[in-house]
Amino acid sequence: MARARQHIPFYVPWTDRTEIVQMTQAIRSGWLTTGPKVGLFEDRIRRMVRARHAVAVNSCTAALHVSLAAAGVGPGDEVITSPYTFAATGEAILYLGARPVLADIDSTTLNIDPGAVESAITRRTRAIVPVHIAGLPCDMPALLALARRRRLKLVDDAAHALGSWVNGRPIGSQSDFTCFSFYATKNLTTGEGGMVTTNDREAAERVRRLSLHGMTHDAWKRYTRTGSWRYDVLEMGFKYNMTDIAAGLGLAQAAKFPSIQARRRRLARRYTALLASCDAFDLPPEPKGVVHAWHLYVLRLRPGVLRVGRDEMIALLQEQGIGTSMHFLPLHLHSLYRRRFGYRRGDFPKTERESARAISLPLYPGLNRADQDRVVGTLLDLARRHRR
Ligand SMILES: *Cc1c(COP(=O)(O)O)cnc(C)c1O
Repeated sequence: MARARQHIPFYVPWTDRTEIVQMTQAIRSGWLTTGPKVGLFEDRIRRMVRARHAVAVNSCTAALHVSLAAAGVGPGDEVITSPYTFAATGEAILYLGARPVLADIDSTTLNIDPGAVESAITRRTRAIVPVHIAGLPCDMPALLALARRRRLKLVDDAAHALGSWVNGRPIGSQSDFTCFSFYATKNLTTGEGGMVTTNDREAAERVRRLSLHGMTHDAWKRYTRTGSWRYDVLEMGFKYNMTDIAAGLGLAQAAKFPSIQARRRRLARRYTALLASCDAFDLPPEPKGVVHAWHLYVLRLRPGVLRVGRDEMIALLQEQGIGTSMHFLPLHLHSLYRRRFGYRRGDFPKTERESARAISLPLYPGLNRADQDRVVGTLLDLARRHRR
């Protein structure tokens, strides 16, 4: 126990020479900002998720912002989302002067409960933002039917869900807008980056325009031989375009994405197989009929079995050289949301209960079996030592 052992980090990026080659190419080509590699990367993602259109931006937060704007969300509107999410989901709604209305989750999946969404709809509701937590798709058949029936837009926060399938189709092909993240720790990374996919041509054009100063469509070509110097600003937009350097990183990652996902899936199933016999943990479900993207492996502690809570368990694992993380603290319990909307503990009991016992285990393509065995062995040992 006293023996110093190597630290197993929560996350390590998965890159090789191909990322360096792609990024060097971008630099040598002279296209440092949005150019041909961004177009190629958009095409790769668009095909991967079987959407008609894809627009690259510089984060998923930006993707959510411009998608909600293109969905017609404005001041005074309400947008329904999950309290079990990252700050960015609520923030994008706030950017538009709209109100994030929260609907509690399904305790098993950690995803928003369509029944709770329906109860939260008012005359001011414009859109629903489902979050596919950990890469497990939300109940899309129910959400699509609800959105259609109540004439609401669906804007998915698919930051975890590149590669997820449900309803016989990929996430990214079904909603009005789907927003992906290519942040450093996400399954496919461009360092910082995001993407909006949609099947609606006009919506895609609007998203593209909003992501670059509200300028006319081809403005980015204005420094090329065929481009024109003249452009028009049609509306107020933002500065959210992706660079070719980032897209180069993304193209290299996209080429290895199938193997990244296969490795993640194998590791996730191995965690489940090795931990299943221990009654101290609830393991993440992988329901039939879905493809889970396994962005995260979220373990939940059973308070009836263990004497230690989430915070202590994270500290104990840290002492043993195992890095973990926590996804997510409930959105409504952050100071901003308490202050601005008067939320209190108890408002979304399922989110609070599940969040309070959740720990994300190390999960990345380069995690080797020996390290995974050590994570599992340590967890089982701690569970034995800290039983009630
Ligand atoms: C990472 C993340 C985001 C934000 O993605 P960025 O690309 O960093 O803006 C949004 N929602 C969820 C659920 C995330 O995990």
